[in-house]
Amino acid sequence: MNKLAKLGKLKALTSQCKNCKLRCGASVVFGQGNPNAKIMFIGEAPGKKEVELGIPFVGSSGKILDKMLEKIAIPREDVYLTNICKCRPPENRDPLPEEIEQCWPWLEKQIAIIEPEIIVTLGRFALNAFVPNAKISEVHGQLIQIEIKKIGKIQLFPLHHPAAARINRKTRAIFQDDFEKIPKLLQNKKEQ
Ligand code: URA
Repeated sequence: MNKLAKLGKLKALTSQCKNCKLRCGASVVFGQGNPNAKIMFIGEAPGKKEVELGIPFVGSSGKILDKMLEKIAIPREDVYLTNICKCRPPENRDPLPEEIEQCWPWLEKQIAIIEPEIIVTLGRFALNAFVPNAKISEVHGQLIQIEIKKIGKIQLFPLHHPAAARINRKTRAIFQDDFEKIPKLLQNKKEQ
């Protein structure tokens, strides 16, 4: 079975997920992008627009992401986008620790199928899902190697969340600087 088929099968299973209280069923926002992507972006949870369309990062944060991808000349179709939580928490509240934990096996399986060279986490929730005690203010824009039991070694590149970049001018500048490091990271990987 190829990666696309494996992701399709996994997506169907997520819509029946009852792991956490959110149980959003058909409103699950599973992920979008190239199953063979070298780079995988992982955000927090879908928002209203994402649920409406069933696609991650199509709202205001998505617009910022799209702009940055355009700036570094990486087509959105070449990457894979998803979230640590596949269901939208009510009233756009932060995802609860148990929701993140209970949704984690889906993300783990997605990563195992896609096998990206680099995982870009967007925001502190996504970062802390991988590295619980890391501070985004200290590790953003740095490549971190971590090991996940069921996956093995992965390269994590933590960035601020685009929503934080939208709100705060200083964070926006940091986010843009960090984002612009991505092509070099991919190039380095190619040369390894
Ligand atoms: N949209 C998403 O899909 N994820 C986020 O973290 C924010 C907006």
